[in-house]
Amino acid sequence: MSDFQDKVVWITGASSGIGEALAYTFAKYKAKLVLSARRADELERVKKACNLPDADILVLPFDVADYTQAEANTAKVLAQFGRIDILVNNAGLSHWSKVKDTGFDVIKRIMDVNFLGGAALTKAVLPGMLKNKKGQIVVISSILGKIITAKQSAYNASKHAIMGFYDTLRAESGGEGIKVLLVCPGFVRTDVAKNSLNRDGKPIGKDNPMILNGLDPMDVSEDILSAIRKGKEEILLAGPKERFAVTLKRFAPGLFSKIMSKTKLA
Ligand code: NDP
Repeated sequence: MSDFQDKVVWITGASSGIGEALAYTFAKYKAKLVLSARRADELERVKKACNLPDADILVLPFDVADYTQAEANTAKVLAQFGRIDILVNNAGLSHWSKVKDTGFDVIKRIMDVNFLGGAALTKAVLPGMLKNKKGQIVVISSILGKIITAKQSAYNASKHAIMGFYDTLRAESGGEGIKVLLVCPGFVRTDVAKNSLNRDGKPIGKDNPMILNGLDPMDVSEDILSAIRKGKEEILLAGPKERFAVTLKRFAPGLFSKIMSKTKLA
């Protein structure tokens, strides 16, 4: 029997990329799954490919930014499975434009989807986990929760907010059986660049070579499950250049700033 067999795992952003890969990997280990994102048809496609018995997989489409629905959606999961063992806050999107050009509504949307939506779900599932004295919150942050790149101010801010929020949650509730894993990937080969918003809040619709050359999402998902098994608190999944950037920011922040002001990523 695998460590994940019969564990109830709720994944947001399960309709593509890292979330989709996580769904397949958890399904391989016979977890019970809840798949969420906005596109119901894509979630149904992922559900079919997971090849689990119907009773073990629930498609629950919603917009995470509609955080007033977090409790009602949690109630639907509890009605089907009775408990939530692992919540994976993965849904997210990015944007590309300088602060001076970025509409405030774009900044708000990024914070709503990447930070507040996940925070609302976390608050909704937490009482059940605390009652069971057991539960794990996994959050797909980013290397941009540790460093920054130009033209991604709100994205960087949302991922830095995630780091602060969930480090705090871990400090508060570790003694009550709650584990928190922060996942900080560098470039991963998904639709994240295509789905990024431009300054007006419209999807850019274009791939980015660095994302196209990024890590395979299936490999990333196996690394995430391995970190969950080991009860790790944080993992950085990135190549040597990105790892070096994290070290540079930590030990030579002035030099890091200078380099970043001259680096063109898109
Ligand atoms: P994708 O664009 O492929 O997937 C994003 C997922 O989030 C989709 O399933 C999308 O589904 C869902 N989503 C987006 N907005 C909402 C919303 N408002 N409500 C519900 N679901 C939503 O990108 P990734 O797989 O790369 O992104 C997953 C996570 O990984 C994100 O948090 C991202 O920031 C993070 N990440 C990605 C990196 C990369 O290089 N790819 C690097 C570091 C972090 P739908 O459109 O159906 O709603």
